[in-house]
Amino acid sequence: APALVALSEPAVTTPAVSKTLFEKIIDRELPATIVYEDELCLAFKDIHPCAPMHVLLVPKKPIVQLSQAAPEDQALLGHLMLTATKVAALEGLGEAYRLVINNGAAAGMSVSHLHLHLIGGRPLKWPPA
Ligand code: IMP
Repeated sequence: APALVALSEPAVTTPAVSKTLFEKIIDRELPATIVYEDELCLAFKDIHPCAPMHVLLVPKKPIVQLSQAAPEDQALLGHLMLTATKVAALEGLGEAYRLVINNGAAAGMSVSHLHLHLIGGRPLKWPPA
């Protein structure tokens, strides 16, 4: 008699790498107040603004954090910096604004997708907390 073949083999699953919050915003799966977009990046209002103007600028490429950027990301990183100045101008910040990148949880990073904070609209003290 032929050997019985198990008919209900466990499903072969490829663990899907789950999207971060910011990837979902980039993919329009979550709402956001988008203030700028181009082929490489997206800028949207921070949901808990720490100043009258607080925008997050994210690359569409899901770089986990700045320290994990690769040499081939050099032009993209430069693009983010220059785009931040463009968004600052669009938002009417003049020459008075701050850019922040938190790298790692201990430095205050809470979403594992590289993002630049663009902050302004009030006097900013230094050093930050
Ligand atoms: P981090 O602490 O440097 O990682 O910055 C993450 C930022 O994302 C914080 O300033 C949060 O207020 C902001 N944030 C979290 N969830 C959302 C959201 O759904 N939309 C917009 N900003 C968010």
